[in-house]
Amino acid sequence: MTDPDPSKKVADRYLKREILGEGTYGVVYKAIDTHTGQTVAIKKIRLGKQKEGVNFTALREIKLLKELKDPNIIELIDAFPHKGNLHLVFEFMDTDLEAVIRDRNIFLSPADTKSYLQMTLKGLAFCHKKWVLHRDMKPNNLLIGSHGQLKLADFGLARIFGSPDRRFTHQVFARWYRAPELLFGAKQYGSGVDVWAAACIFAELLLRRPFLQGSSDIDQLGKIFAAFGTPTPAQWPDMVYLPDYVEYQCVPAPPLRTLFPTASDDALDLLSKMFTYDPKARISVQQALEHRYFSSAPLPTDPEKLPRPAPKKESRASDFDLQQGPTVLSPPRKSRRVMPGRDGFEGNSFQGVKDDDGNFGDFRQTVGDNTVLTDYI
Ligand code: ADP
Repeated sequence: MTDPDPSKKVADRYLKREILGEGTYGVVYKAIDTHTGQTVAIKKIRLGKQKEGVNFTALREIKLLKELKDPNIIELIDAFPHKGNLHLVFEFMDTDLEAVIRDRNIFLSPADTKSYLQMTLKGLAFCHKKWVLHRDMKPNNLLIGSHGQLKLADFGLARIFGSPDRRFTHQVFARWYRAPELLFGAKQYGSGVDVWAAACIFAELLLRRPFLQGSSDIDQLGKIFAAFGTPTPAQWPDMVYLPDYVEYQCVPAPPLRTLFPTASDDALDLLSKMFTYDPKARISVQQALEHRYFSSAPLPTDPEKLPRPAPKKESRASDFDLQQGPTVLSPPRKSRRVMPGRDGFEGNSFQGVKDDDGNFGDFRQTVGDNTVLTDYI
């Protein structure tokens, strides 16, 4: 017999432990999967003011993310609604690239930098092949597992849940990784935005500090132009048609070597191709992976041997003190009430099925007059 209530079973499964941090879309918890004993990270996404329930497109996109499986992409293990929030369950990772770059006790050799960049680009290449953009690449979205493997996190979330709100203080740093076409207000853009961000991360690995630290979007463009020279229309013909285009004072580019004195010629060549102004002329992720930088000596360090910060203490299923009461993420066992559908929906949308406490149980797809229970995620 098939399980009549799959999402409830999912929700019963995870024991919440400590908060790992507050991110762009909500709080991230450490949790234990009681079925497997595996430590996971659960991202709780607030859906608060969305009266129509979870957007249909968002759910379909999340289903797509669940199918994106690659060694350099964080695995989305599960997704379920609970108390009006969407919970995304990811594999747990020990640390992230930001912590590696900031850790003054860590020495990063040229081969280590190459390895971290290669894993970043491999993850990106996989997703670009599937037509998914990241749009929010930054070192703290590059998570590092216990075997040194680097995995891209938060893939596609920017598109599903909207661009991260730049007013939040923890989001201001994301500006430093924004491509010039975005800063000039481009509404249509492609995988080049992720290449630019990856170039900023490459530069940060070389410098051990963020490369272009703008304090506003205008200042960010100023910092970019000071590093690479003000772009000319000949260099980037579409630039002048971008919605927020303004003319900047012409400044010449200093030699790239002066900005990255310790980088190899191959590293500088790849960097300059990734930092190309015109997104149409910018190197693709796949081409970047084929660049001689990755095949010339020194070869990328084996991930297992990469230097990384000491992992924080891991909580195990056996650590549970039930007196202290880890939170069980499951809706109370009460009868469930189907919320009446609302008139005037535009297109398809999802209604959560709430129990008596107003907790979300299942997703219910409302299509015209027909309400069907659907195990979408
Ligand atoms: P942001 O939106 O600012 O990128 P996130 O929501 O991704 O932040 O993450 C918030 C916090 O949770 C960070 O400290 C991050 O390191 C941690 N975190 C996120 N995902 C995981 C994971 N899969 N494993 C371990 N920690 C994670």
